[in-house]
Amino acid sequence: MIQTLILHADAPPKPAAGEPCNGCGICCAAERCPVAWLFLPLGGGACGALEWDGAAGRYRCGMVVHPANYLGWLPRPWEMRAGRWFASRIAAGSGCDFNATEVGDA
Ligand code: SF4
Ligand code: SF4
Repeated sequence: MIQTLILHADAPPKPAAGEPCNGCGICCAAERCPVAWLFLPLGGGACGALEWDGAAGRYRCGMVVHPANYLGWLPRPWEMRAGRWFASRIAAGSGCDFNATEVGDA
């Protein structure tokens, strides 16, 4: 299947599967992870919690960095703990687990 993804011009190129995640954002723009399916409203396109971090020059998962922005029922004092839990659910820090057969400029 051919899929066109719109990403920030300064986003880093996708690393090979298994290499450290560099926040290229391609996986979250292409398909929703289980956290998104369970906790975020349905919608087309990139995951609604995919955030561009201009200072770092990479994408970040909003459900990890400030989930209370997306979950109106989550008390702010619980946000850090919830973010850590979401990070564990998306296997953050365990390397790129997304296989794209071809990535290039449109
Ligand atoms: S897991 Fe891979 S595709 Fe997803 S943001 Fe990280 S490097 Fe990019
Ligand atoms: S919830 Fe986070 S990890 Fe999952 S698709 Fe959205 S931005 Fe990506």
